[in-house]
Amino acid sequence: MSKIQKIKGFVDLFPEEAAKFTRMEQLARDTFSRYGFGELRTPVLEKTELFQKSIGEDTDVVGKEMFTFPDRKDRSLTMRPEATAGVVRAFIEAGVHQPGKVSKYFTFGPMFRYERPQKGRQRQFHQINAEVFGAPEAQADAELILMLRTFLNALGLTKLTVELNSLGCHDCRPAYRQALVDYYTSKDRGNFCEDCRRRMDTNPLRVLDCKVPACKALVADAPVITDHLCPECETHFADVRTVLDGAGVAYELNPRLVRGLDYYVRTCFEVASYDIGSQTAVAGGGRYDGLIKTLGGPDCPASGFACGMERLALLLDQLEAPAPDFYLAVVDASASNQAMLFAQQLRDKGLCGEVSFGSGSMKSRMRAANKSGAKVCLIMGGDELAGATVTVKPMTGDGEQETVSQADYLARIEVQE
Ligand SMILES: [Zn+2]
Ligand SMILES: [Zn+2]
Repeated sequence: MSKIQKIKGFVDLFPEEAAKFTRMEQLARDTFSRYGFGELRTPVLEKTELFQKSIGEDTDVVGKEMFTFPDRKDRSLTMRPEATAGVVRAFIEAGVHQPGKVSKYFTFGPMFRYERPQKGRQRQFHQINAEVFGAPEAQADAELILMLRTFLNALGLTKLTVELNSLGCHDCRPAYRQALVDYYTSKDRGNFCEDCRRRMDTNPLRVLDCKVPACKALVADAPVITDHLCPECETHFADVRTVLDGAGVAYELNPRLVRGLDYYVRTCFEVASYDIGSQTAVAGGGRYDGLIKTLGGPDCPASGFACGMERLALLLDQLEAPAPDFYLAVVDASASNQAMLFAQQLRDKGLCGEVSFGSGSMKSRMRAANKSGAKVCLIMGGDELAGATVTVKPMTGDGEQETVSQADYLARIEVQE
């Protein structure tokens, strides 16, 4: 019978790899809770219209990349391609917002996009997200960036760059959009790629971050948003930078940084790491004051970020799993039951380690003990079973091998603690 294989773009995480994800989740929980964020878990499956309305029909994500299918009653459902829409949907649905109230949530879990799989990018991928609802202030944006930095530092990533921009607001952006459209027209629209020619009418800001070299060259001298900010947006952006400056966050202003969607306003940022030499983007975020209202909720400001866990996992050094305390080598199968019970007593005292199963030669047992990295190898065979003893062989340092009673060995652990 042929083996059943996993779906393309989906991966199994065995312990070594899964440990990285667990560590990221633990550190995110620890870090974010210190900033007053609480965990929110939302479903991976939502109504398709949620993403059509929030992300927009005219995006690659909604147009080409969603896992969308009908359920048994022919309703269109979609595996979430990102977290924010679901978090906002939950927030609105629960009706928890009151004017002036700030709600802070973080969430992590799998997201799904039908993209070409490559290193660090799978069709099921994982993100850590944080969202702040109800705070229009610049300080909320700055706090998100500081919290993200604290989290990445805790993971051991220290060579970080933050790219920062302001996208203006609904007051000042229309004039900027027009200035952009005029500029594109002056450069002859036909010189831009097909996507950009379409974007010029639907979302002219998106042309700024087109990856096509010809477009990149054409927008090099395009007007920049930061020259078009209204006084309120100027002040807001200056406040974000003042906090980041005060906290010693290294950032670069990048007026070409846009977060494609219309509901993004003011602050937007991307964080990259140089910890493994080349630049790796690890997180991005910004302010999206319009989204909650777009999805039928109150007029409530919002800001947040998403952090790609696969990207982070690529960056993390092989995590040093703590060395086991013992490896219990059973060299005579008659001692197997007693060995299992003795190991359980050790584990009850907080030690960690494994017991060999079945029978095996001393040589093969020692090889396994070495491979496990355990601090001591405990040996039990016929003699130890008869005498209720255990032979203790230190695997590190230059301690002597000795045989002691099992009771004495257990008592010794208590003394050590
Ligand atoms: Zn403005
Ligand atoms: Zn283009």
